[in-house]
Amino acid sequence: MADPKGFLTHDRELPARRPVDVRIRDWREVYEDFPRPALAKQAARCMDCGIPFCHNGCPLGNLIPEWNDLVYRDDWREAVERLHATNNFPEFTGRLCPAPCESACVLGINSDPVSIKRVEVEIIDRAFAEGWVTPRPPETKTGKRVAVVGSGPAGLAAAQQLTRAGHDVVVFERADKAGGLLRYGIPEFKMEKHHLDRRLAQMEAEGTEFRTGVNVGMDVTAARLREEFDAVVLAGGATAWRDLSVPGRELGGVHQAMEYLPPANRDLAASPISAEGRHVVVIGGGDTGADCIGTAIRQGAASVTQLEIMPRPPASRPGSQPWPTYPMLFKMESAHEELEAGGGARVYAASTTEFLSDEDGNVRALRLVDVEGPASGFRPIPGSEREIPAELVTLAMGFVGPEKGPLLTDLAALASRDFFDARGNVARDSSYATAVEGVFAAGDMGRGQSLIVWAIAEGRSAAAAVDEYLSGRTALPVAVPPTARPLV
Ligand SMILES: Cc1cc2nc3c(=O)[nH]c(=O)nc-3n(C[C@H](O)[C@H](O)[C@H](O)COP(=O)(O)OP(=O)(O)OC[C@H]3O[C@@H](n4cnc5c(N)ncnc54)[C@H](O)[C@@H]3O)c2cc1C
Ligand code: SF4
Repeated sequence: MADPKGFLTHDRELPARRPVDVRIRDWREVYEDFPRPALAKQAARCMDCGIPFCHNGCPLGNLIPEWNDLVYRDDWREAVERLHATNNFPEFTGRLCPAPCESACVLGINSDPVSIKRVEVEIIDRAFAEGWVTPRPPETKTGKRVAVVGSGPAGLAAAQQLTRAGHDVVVFERADKAGGLLRYGIPEFKMEKHHLDRRLAQMEAEGTEFRTGVNVGMDVTAARLREEFDAVVLAGGATAWRDLSVPGRELGGVHQAMEYLPPANRDLAASPISAEGRHVVVIGGGDTGADCIGTAIRQGAASVTQLEIMPRPPASRPGSQPWPTYPMLFKMESAHEELEAGGGARVYAASTTEFLSDEDGNVRALRLVDVEGPASGFRPIPGSEREIPAELVTLAMGFVGPEKGPLLTDLAALASRDFFDARGNVARDSSYATAVEGVFAAGDMGRGQSLIVWAIAEGRSAAAAVDEYLSGRTALPVAVPPTARPLV
């Protein structure tokens, strides 16, 4: 512990967000730079607890007190080594993770937790800037071939670990570029894509091969893949979206969030589904909804309203969500700040009952009703029905699991036992193995829509299981067993 009084002398601090009226005119990340001396003070707040609960809060088991201490001592080179020991992609988590580690920080019991996520991202950004992040190709090759289906954080983590273990790894991705939701789901203002590209370049230099534009199950069958490779890792995500079956759902201008966000991320200047000049309603109060809000505002929406069926969450921990759990609290993401600055609203405890059409078959308004609930269901409050203008609607109501396309249905036909679990995700045993010999599953495809940090943790762990399957033993670390129940 570098500074025994750090937590008494320094308050928690984070970098400022760029002013709203400036940042909504571009797509760059929203945060200002954080001066290095200020970061050292934040690292100094870490108490290096005897039992660091933050380790347990982080699904990757990141060695947080160690790198806080190293940053305080100005040993950044060693700090990035310790960071990479447990996390392949801290530049993703340091920007995008909801930081369950901070909810579990002991300092957070009666004070503000350590700014762990900020320290994490500053370490990796400096390491890239200094040229310390270089390819680490394997010293020896095993001659075994592994196919990874899907190039989101789970597939990338599995691929990097397995390549470094000496296997020949090919990542298949149906999109034109690798990255999964990091590429086409998450907007530029949350993570600029050059962070992803530079990590992919490192992976290619290490020997990982990427084949994009290949839809496994359609362009190449699952059985063929199984024949050509010694092992297969399924990391195709949980992309089957939840829909809203109310009258008018078929109208023009009503889109799923993942129909709206990918083209917007592909073409920042001229997306084919643009919010420009339109009244936008985002249905769903989570992260995906926030991404739709920030995107619509940057496209020049006339107004933005967010609807959420659940009541507004509390501002501080309720007794039912005690430390060190990750509490469901009212959040003010950057997109929410932008929404409020533009006069938009977040409406809670409201349910959409109908989309109303203009004369061309496009949505012009949305009918909603306030509801009571969720205990024993949602009940409409009589007399609260009303209409709001809606010329572009995005449905951001979550995902129900992996798509049951040819890839999974063909594999299910080859399976020796149930291929899917009770929730419709791909079932795994404690070694990430599915019911088809030599086929493993990691990330959202096995656990349902989750978080980047969990996808990386599962990708790393599945890689260890595959390595052991192929080589009879493994030196790769296991971050998390698939049965672990998430705090988040
Ligand atoms: C809009 C949005 C915003 C989010 N924001 C955050 C956030 O800020 N922080 C956070 O922690 N989490 C966030 N999440 C959740 C997070 O992105 C996911 O949990 C994570 O990306 C899952 O990683 P994955 O590798 O399992 O799958 P994915 O990232 O979904 O990647 C799966 C990949 O597999 C490919 N694929 C699927 N089937 C095939 C096939 N048959 N052949 C070839 N390729 C295939 C897909 O094209 C995709 O590229 C967000 C999710 C969404 C939708
Ligand atoms: S990956 Fe997430 S939970 Fe782990 S240390 Fe980073 S911010 Fe915290």
